[in-house]
Parts: sequence; structure tokens; C-alpha cells
Amino acid sequence: MMQSGKISVQTENIFPIIKKFLYSEQEIFLRELVSNAMDATTKIKTLSSRGEAKGELGHLMIEIIPNKEAKTLTISDRGLGMDAEEVNKYLNQVAFSSAQEFLDKYKDEANIIGHFGLGFYSAFMVANKVEVITKSYKENAEAVKWTCTGDTEFTIESAEKSDRGTDIVLHLSEDCLDYAESYKIEGLLEKFCKFLPFPIKLGTKKEKQKEGDVETEIEVDNIINNTNPIWKKNPTELTDDDYKKFYQELYPFSSEPLFWIHLNIDYPFNLTGVLYFPKIKNQFEIQKNKIHLYSNQVFVTDDVKEIVPEFLMLLHGVIDSPDIPLNVSRSYLQSDANVRKITSYITRKVAEKLHDLFKKDRTDFEKKWDDIGTFIKYGIISEEKFAEKANSFALLKNTKSEYKTIEEYKEKSKTLRRIKIINLQ
Ligand code: ADP
Repeated sequence: MMQSGKISVQTENIFPIIKKFLYSEQEIFLRELVSNAMDATTKIKTLSSRGEAKGELGHLMIEIIPNKEAKTLTISDRGLGMDAEEVNKYLNQVAFSSAQEFLDKYKDEANIIGHFGLGFYSAFMVANKVEVITKSYKENAEAVKWTCTGDTEFTIESAEKSDRGTDIVLHLSEDCLDYAESYKIEGLLEKFCKFLPFPIKLGTKKEKQKEGDVETEIEVDNIINNTNPIWKKNPTELTDDDYKKFYQELYPFSSEPLFWIHLNIDYPFNLTGVLYFPKIKNQFEIQKNKIHLYSNQVFVTDDVKEIVPEFLMLLHGVIDSPDIPLNVSRSYLQSDANVRKITSYITRKVAEKLHDLFKKDRTDFEKKWDDIGTFIKYGIISEEKFAEKANSFALLKNTKSEYKTIEEYKEKSKTLRRIKIINLQ
């Protein structure tokens, strides 16, 4: 079988546009392709659990193979695969038209593309030829190979492939050869794919194994992601140690966080996450951009200005929500109803947590005041809703290092004033 054809897009050649406009966001190609591999893997798992896919599921791992000699980067999955008809439909039609539509709409706002990808065609940001070798899960499916060399011509032919799934082989452009370097790919996977739900393998590593007194070194798969991050778990099954360990995973070598809040809501919007209060040793150390935004465990950005109220930008941690629209401009994001609800939910949760801590152990809360006071005061002056709630736990410290809530202070100063008046009489 050999078929060739012309991809039907209006713009004669959209690849130069992709390359030109999206150069600054080039790295997202890997996130897009790995996300597709994840989707394909999730789909086969679902089909199999419904009894619609026969046979063994096997080890559902995604493998990334950089090859310096061949100047290629391969993304390989054991997902549901595609047959020739599906390749035609999904790669030649769906992917092309959605890429074209996307570019037409957003070519002046390249920063959005980093949030919400171009999908499969972002492969052409780094490759001058892309091969897709794929075999469908369907019984008696034949493997096919799709090749496209960066213009609108493609070929589909029969191929040899023993396993179900898809290999995407990127023949890297001369100016993108560093994507064939393992260290470069490891860095990108760490950034975008660290918490994806199926294991991602990048080469192998040596691991020590002890049997009795004998220690040997064995070669094991180098899995770069944590497939079950704590924000996806139920807070009741987690210990303080789990939260602290996860904090170290996010920010290695940081000092322990003061406390944390587990966010978990699925109505009226879906959002999970863990926010940590860092220990602020001095004002110079305050760092913004420490909250990472994910969408279904895929890293989106660490710039959460429009989602998290300004005073909470001092917090660290992760927010994961598929309900935050990513394909819109920043100004639109601020006025989005869901985003506004999310912002007030986070503010409320933070206020509740602070109130709880204060109620449960005031002495301990007072000890933490030097670290959290600045942030609470900032919240009071910048967010009306927070200020209302903060009245019950915001503290004032006197010269003797005694702490009073605002109400207590008012009471105390009332009596003092009364004493003064009596003395004067
Ligand atoms: P999107 O993922 O947003 O639908 P893409 O352009 O990334 O758009 O991909 C187009 C389509 O190609 C997908 O919807 C899917 O059907 C198919 N596809 C892409 N990559 C894979 C893969 N690794 N395995 C199976 N199908 C795939």
C-alpha cells in the first residue's frame, strides 16, 4: 500500500508561520506530543476496561528516545494507535485544520500558544520531517507509516510494527539538534511532564541492589515523572510527612513550609492543588511565580497573576484545574466567570485555614506571626473579602511582644482610656 496526497489547507504552507511566530514557545512541542501520547494511553485503558479492546494491555509506558547520531527524537506510546483511515482523518484533516484555525486566531498573541498548544503540528516547530508509525488496537490492524516533510505533501504506506501504539519520529532541523540531547529533553520533561499520569521513560539508569551482603548494580528504566502526585489524592490518606516530601520535590533544598492547604473541589468548577506557606526568612527572599498551574497534570505556566489574588502570590505549590480557559488572552482571563470564582474560592480557603490555625493553637499561631503577618496585612489592604475574614485572626504586637487581635486591642484600649479619664478627674 502506498498513498500520497496533498493536505487541504488554505494557506499553501503553514509551517513557516508555525516556525516564525512560535519560535519563543518552541519547547512546548514536547508537551504537546507527550500529552497526545498520554491521551492515547488513557483511551486504550478505558476501551480495555469496557471490554472494547481485546488482548493484553501490557505495560502502559511512554518512551522518549533522543538519538544524536540519527538527529532524531522519538516519542513512543502503547496507546490505542491509528489505522490508515484514522491517520488520514486525524493527522491530515483534524490536526491541520485545528492548527490552521488556531494560527489564524492567535498569531498575534504567541504567548497564549504556550498555554494552549497547537497540538500535533507543533512537531514542525523543531523538525523538518515527521514520521508517524502507528498500529491500531483493532483486531488484524495493519501498521502504517505517515511521512510529511514540512510542506503540505504527505505519504502513507504500510509499515512493520509489532506492538500496538504510535511512534512519532522527529527528524530535527539543523538549528534544533539540541533536542537530540538527553539532558535537554530531561529538563523539558521535568518542566512539563513531571506529574503526568503514566510513566515516562528516558533511557536507563544504574541502581544499587542488595541481596544479603552482596551489592550489585543493575540497570533500570529511568522514569522521570511522579504519576500520582499528592494533590490528586484524598487529604485523609496523607500525612504531614507526605506534604513536606512533596514540597521538597517541588522546591529541592528549601526550608520546611510553615503549613499548607489542600484544595479539592469539583463543583461548580473542578480544581485540586496544594498551597504552601513558605518560611519567609527576610523580605528579599520573597519570590513570586512559585505557584505552578497545571491542567489535568500537564504543566501550563508558573505565571498565575490572573488566577491567584496578588497577596497570595507569596504562596508556593500547585493548582490543577481543567476549568481555567487557556486559549484566551490574559485580559479575558481576568473577567472569566470561572476564574473569578476560583480566585474567591482560593481566598476563602486561605482565610479558613488561618482561622483554624489561630483557633486550634493560638500560641503556635503567634510564633508564626513574623512569617505570615506581612502577608496577612497585605491581604487585608488589598482584598476586601479577605479583610472581613481576617479580622478574627490578624494580630497586633506590642513592645512587650504580646499579641492581641484587633477586637482585643480595642477592648484593652477602651479600659485604658477609662482609667486615664478616671485619673484625670
Ligand atoms: P488534539 O490532541 O487537540 O485533538 P492534535 O493536533 O494534537 O489535536 O491531534 C489530532 C488528533 O490526532 C488527536 O485528536 C488524535 O486523534 C490523533 N493523535 C495524535 N497523536 C496521537 C497518538 N500518539 N496516538 C493516537 N492518536 C493520536
